[in-house]
This record gives sequence, C-alpha cells and structure tokens, in this order.
Amino acid sequence: MPEKRDYYEVLGVQKNATKEQIKDSYRKLAMQYHPDRNKNPDAEEKFKEISEAYAVLSDDQKRQQYDMLGHAGFDQRYTSEDIFRGADFDSIFRDMGFGDLFRTLFGGGFGGFQQQRNRGQDIGYDLEITLEEAAMGAEKEIEIPRTEKCEICQGTGAAPGTNPKTCPKCNGAGRVENISKGAFGMYMRMVTACPTCKGKGKIVETPCSNCHGSGLVKKRRKIMVTIPQGIDEGIQLRLSGEGEAAPNYGQPGDLYVITHIKPHPQFMRDGDDLWHVAVISYPQAALGAEISVPTLDGPAKVKIHPGTQAGEVVQLRGKGMPRFRGYGKGDLIVRIGISVPEKLTSKQRELLEQLAKEFDTEVQPKNRKFRL
Ligand SMILES: [Zn+2]
Ligand SMILES: [Zn+2]
Repeated sequence: MPEKRDYYEVLGVQKNATKEQIKDSYRKLAMQYHPDRNKNPDAEEKFKEISEAYAVLSDDQKRQQYDMLGHAGFDQRYTSEDIFRGADFDSIFRDMGFGDLFRTLFGGGFGGFQQQRNRGQDIGYDLEITLEEAAMGAEKEIEIPRTEKCEICQGTGAAPGTNPKTCPKCNGAGRVENISKGAFGMYMRMVTACPTCKGKGKIVETPCSNCHGSGLVKKRRKIMVTIPQGIDEGIQLRLSGEGEAAPNYGQPGDLYVITHIKPHPQFMRDGDDLWHVAVISYPQAALGAEISVPTLDGPAKVKIHPGTQAGEVVQLRGKGMPRFRGYGKGDLIVRIGISVPEKLTSKQRELLEQLAKEFDTEVQPKNRKFRL
C-alpha cells in the first residue's frame, strides 16, 4: 500500500475548513472523478481516495480523531468499512444525479444499516377468488389500509413553503457513533440513532399540519391486482413498493396478495386437473349414452360406453386448469356415478321386476369392477 496522502490535501482544503467548504470541495472533485463521467483508469482510485477523505472529514468525531492521531493512529482504530459507515454520500449523489455506483465500488457494507432502517413494512392481504377467475386470470380491485407519504409536504413533514433542516448533531446521517475504550484496550464503536433528530437526519421546525410533521399519513388505498392464469391456493403475489411507506424518504415495503380459491359446486381441483362427478341412470350405464358435462369453457359432450360401471372415469384432455406460469392445461376428469332411484312408479317397478327375473340373479351383477 502506498502511503496515504493527508486527507486535507486530498480534498484541497485548509486544516480549519468548515463543513460546507469540505462538502463543496468533495462535490467538485467527485464530479470530476466519478467513474460515471471519468473513464480514465486512474479515476476510480482517485475517486476512492477523495471519498475516503470526505467520509472522515465530514464526520466530527472521525475528523477530531484524525487530527489528533494522524493517518497511522487513525487507521489502527478504523477499518475502511468503519470509515465509510455513517457518511452521508446518498444525499450528495442524489443531488448530483448519480446512482448507487458508490456502493458497487466499495461494497454494500456501510449502506446496509440505513437501508434496513428506512424500509417500510410489508403488507399481507388475503384475496378470495373464484375457480373461474383462477382459470381465466383476472384484474381485481382491493382496498388496503396503509401508511403513505403525505401529499401536502411530499413526505418531508415540513409545512408547505418551509424546508426541513439538516440535523446539526448527526450532520444528516440520522445516527451517531461513540467510540469508547472497552475491555483489553479494544476500541468499541457504538452506532445509535441520533437523539436530536430521532434518526431522521433532518429537523422540522414548522410541522406540516396534515401529517403533524411525520411526513406519513394513513390512507385506504385501492389497488388493482392482476391474477395470472392458473393460480393456485395460497400463492403469494408480490406487488413491489405497494406496502407501507417508510419514514425518512426510505423505500416503501411490498404488498403480498395471497390467493384463496372458493370451493366450486361442480369442480374439485387437483393441481392442474379438475374433477367432476357425472351421475347417470342405470339404463344409461348399461346401454351407453351421450351426456353433457360442464367444463370451464361451457358444456361438453361425453360418450358413456355400454356397460359403464360406477366409479369409472372419463378424461377430457386439456379441459382442466391452465398451468401456472407454464404452457398448456390440465385435464378434466369425469367420474361416473350411477343413481339408483329411491322411489319408483308402478310402471318402473314392473319393468325392473321383469328385468330382475331376466337376469335371474336378484340384481347381483356377476362381473363387479368397483373401484374404491
Ligand atoms: Zn405532511
Ligand atoms: Zn441528528
């Protein structure tokens, strides 16, 4: 490792520079060396160097330690992750129109804390749909209670016409670091939410009357949910960013819609297949017949072969459910039931008695093929 240059020198500022001077200088240099703009192979190294210098000099505690200890002493106490943690690059880069590139350069380590803190809660919603809706797909409107960004103040919490101020205690970071000497001479670093701004990084002097300064309001929000074809019971649909809003300009959570399918009077679902029971008469079973069965696309004709037994199945290919996130459809399996009349007209009784004699077996079919 080459010896590090003095941080003040790196940023081109005086030892007694103010925070604003340090920030301005960093901003100018970042504009010049940001790898998004500067394709020179040395730019990235240079960019890291100025960013490290800024991370230290923009933080009161770190700056004080650096002033006291110099590079050698300071580097013993802070890992490079420690150096970057808590530094407020996000707002600088946001203002400059740069994205998350900083994180890709240095890894996500120091950004994680803030992200976690600022993400809104996820919301779960149970949605009941019909089997037809599950088969065809549907657009459903749901209404959820959730926290949203206040429209009056755009989530800042400050009354219209005023702006929240950067917290002087944490310099907008929302958290403060305390270094203390612990057991075995180890330095302990504690990161806590800033007590002055309660972790927000900003202080609202004139609160917005709509949200009382929180920047968030409770709303009942109507949301359209697209149900994909073939969806099954208990599937979670994730609607990214439709969860609870987060405080402090954070990312909103996600909305998870969990589908439940109402029981259907005619079909039972088994994965991609549907089952249906068709009840026919004894003569239809014995003689054969053509019957009509319901399907999701309307009635279909089914041939009953002569000698059909109760419990036999007829498979209608492709008349089941569409495969969820796949191609094709399952089958409709029609199970045959045979109805035995509970009451008989005298004519029916007469004919059946004749039939019974003909069989000479007292209505005991010899070739039973029952399925259990
Ligand atoms: Zn508001
Ligand atoms: Zn603060």
